[in-house]
Amino acid sequence: MTDTFVVSEETLWDALHDVPDPELPHISLIDLGVILRVELDTQAAFARVLLMPTFLGCPALEMMRDMIRERLEQFDITVQVDVTDEQIWTSDRISEEGRRKLEEAGIAPPAPNNQNNTIMLLEPAPCPHCGSRKTSLESAFGPTLCRAIAHCRDCKQPFEQFKPL
Ligand SMILES: [Zn+2]
Repeated sequence: MTDTFVVSEETLWDALHDVPDPELPHISLIDLGVILRVELDTQAAFARVLLMPTFLGCPALEMMRDMIRERLEQFDITVQVDVTDEQIWTSDRISEEGRRKLEEAGIAPPAPNNQNNTIMLLEPAPCPHCGSRKTSLESAFGPTLCRAIAHCRDCKQPFEQFKPL
């Protein structure tokens, strides 16, 4: 029975690199660190993906599930995406590359941190345009639940800040 079925877990992880965060299209779900696990049953041609939610109520979650399913179903497998609270996502899970891409996109990446997993008060991040630390938060409600708008007092430019968890 060495027939047909050849997709490997590794291939699935690779494919997930193609799936962007719907909120932050510059970085992939892998860079964001939200995929906890991929469980592949090759005999059943079935994969289960465990997704860690980044923000409670973040509307992107449903979209992420659809995108993951769509991407992995290209391997002719049945895909189930489950949101898990087995482990809590923190911004520490964002990869180096993810941080760099966020910065390039003009979004201040969350400071690598954080003592615990409780929701913190949002602190203004350094300006991604000029690096100034003289920034203030304009609104705790950015364009989405996941982002906030901050403002740089040096270069006078607004920028988006990724809300840390
Ligand atoms: Zn600035």
